[in-house]
Amino acid sequence: MNKEKSNSSNVYTWYTSRGCTLALLFLLYKKAFYAFPSPLTPSLLEPFSAAAPSVLAFFTAKMDVRRRPVKRHLQRSLKQQDSGEFLKHNDQAKASDVLPLPLYLTNGLFFTMFFSVMYFLLQRWREKIRTSTPLHVVTFSEMAALVSLLASFIYLLGFFGFDFIKSILRPSPASWIIEDDNMEEDKPVKPCGQALIPHISPTNPTTETEVERKKPPPTFEYNSEENEEIIKKVVAGSIPSYSLESNLGDCKRAAVVRREALERITGKSLAGMPLEGFDYESILGQCCEMPVGYIQIPVGIAGPLLLNGAEFSVPMATTEGCLVASTNRGCKAIYVSGGATCMLLRDGMTRAPVVRFGSAKRAAELKLFLEDPENFDTLAVVFNKSSRFGKLQSIKCAIAGKNLYIRFCCITGDAMGMNMVSKGVQNVLDYLQTDYPDMDVMGISGNYCSDKKPAAVNWIEGRGKSVVCEAVINEEVVKKVLKTTVASLVELNMVKNLTGSAMAGALGGFNAHASNIVSAIYIATGQDPAQNVESSHCITMMEAINDGKDLHVSVTMPSIEVGTVGGGTQLASQAACLNLLGVKGASKEEPGSNARVLATIVAGSVLAGELSLMSAIAAGQLVKSHMKYNRSTRDMTKLAT
Ligand code: ADP
Repeated sequence: MNKEKSNSSNVYTWYTSRGCTLALLFLLYKKAFYAFPSPLTPSLLEPFSAAAPSVLAFFTAKMDVRRRPVKRHLQRSLKQQDSGEFLKHNDQAKASDVLPLPLYLTNGLFFTMFFSVMYFLLQRWREKIRTSTPLHVVTFSEMAALVSLLASFIYLLGFFGFDFIKSILRPSPASWIIEDDNMEEDKPVKPCGQALIPHISPTNPTTETEVERKKPPPTFEYNSEENEEIIKKVVAGSIPSYSLESNLGDCKRAAVVRREALERITGKSLAGMPLEGFDYESILGQCCEMPVGYIQIPVGIAGPLLLNGAEFSVPMATTEGCLVASTNRGCKAIYVSGGATCMLLRDGMTRAPVVRFGSAKRAAELKLFLEDPENFDTLAVVFNKSSRFGKLQSIKCAIAGKNLYIRFCCITGDAMGMNMVSKGVQNVLDYLQTDYPDMDVMGISGNYCSDKKPAAVNWIEGRGKSVVCEAVINEEVVKKVLKTTVASLVELNMVKNLTGSAMAGALGGFNAHASNIVSAIYIATGQDPAQNVESSHCITMMEAINDGKDLHVSVTMPSIEVGTVGGGTQLASQAACLNLLGVKGASKEEPGSNARVLATIVAGSVLAGELSLMSAIAAGQLVKSHMKYNRSTRDMTKLAT
């Protein structure tokens, strides 16, 4: 009876542990697949993948309950990871470093060992239960198997453990979307309103009650008594201007004090530059340091722009008269001709560090390693670990003697992506340092990226979003709206945008004024205006079609660098412009789609701008209309027609 009972409990134990082991095996196997996919693995995994959620749900149900309270702590560790602290841990030696074999062979070896030994032990266990042999009596072969199991388990845990545990603790993609709305992950830790050293304000925040602290900050007079003492100290240099935010715990007040101190130090007035009406908290640690006010740039609306079947009212922040009116005219021509079509050709932000070796041979060896398709998946796993959205797409290298320039290209969701791609690059550099200890990282950016500088690499390879946008403008519209003819436009495009630019040795500048439209939209929507350099690369083509009656016009733009999250996009005015376009923030349906739509809007607007300016030049109207709009009589209403 007792034996029966012990047998049944043994069998129960056997099934339970076998179930757990299988679940563990599955998870490890899945991890390994992501690390080193083979042509076989997708099909092998397919049936498991379907059942996985329910199996895993069972095993992780309890974990979930425990997971929630540690979220804050977890975000902190993500921050550490982002800030590079996590990377330091990865510098530590891994078990995989012990064997002088390529990583995938070492992993293969330990995986095979783990699985086969596990299988052997399970068989033995079953045999013992069947023959009622005590489990603790082990043979030499079982002892050896246990040691091998332990060794391979330690190895696998060392290699996959951190990532695995992280992926369990990490929120599901669905909850990311909700979290992303709050943009918690990369939010800078704001010193404002927190305990700050030293307290120099007469209204010491520590003496305030909690309720008082929650009150909106009072509006300070420029020369109020409260601020006078601090202003004097800033003028005297005993309080650094840059520390005002952290010292005062109030960003608005810091701006007031700094501005007054600046005026006293320079003896120049900033009257005319507004100070009120801006959320200084929103720029802290993210957009601008040491603010003293803000610049007002008017925002005009061009449109509706009919693009891919949807209508957009395009916000343009500019002080160039004529620009919005001209783009608006182009939008009208496109609209009445049935709209424009825009296609995304490629999506990927780039960053290219420069590393140096003792010899060109060593640099070449790393180039071959990085460009070998066999190594791509491993490198992608390493690259992708610092972001949920950044996914490595390609690596292209260029050599100059002993210097190697490694151009990493990665999709970045709805972010423009420079921070994201830089973090991924840092991961790979840290990883490579183990196998290439003689590699000297000269700079995380080696200008082969190439960011904010005219460069052929962007023109040829693309950077950010590469798009092509086209429209057919019929003869009637060319005459009535654009006030010119198809033939004149085609001819002017040939001699100006193609031949003229070739004569000038242009680099990506085969257009009339793409950068005008790009810059105005970038400023309005919180993009980085300095990236106008490569984002304005554009070739405008015009061709007479339908027996010369209609005009086919297109703009091809290989490096539009835009995002709808991060940077200046979250500021109130800029977010309002993104909202107007229907692309504010992170896309909940499909990460990256908001940024991609924004890129198409930029290209569509450039198409409109090109059409209108080229028409004005062809019709000899350019100087006339500029005199009219820029030397204004203030009646702008007639200009749009
Ligand atoms: P960039 O990489 O363009 O400099 P930031 O690093 O400032 O941009 O902002 C990107 C941040 O926004 C990242 O922390 C990322 O996790 C977060 N984020 C939230 N939702 C998305 C999304 N849909 N696409 C890309 N990034 C997103």
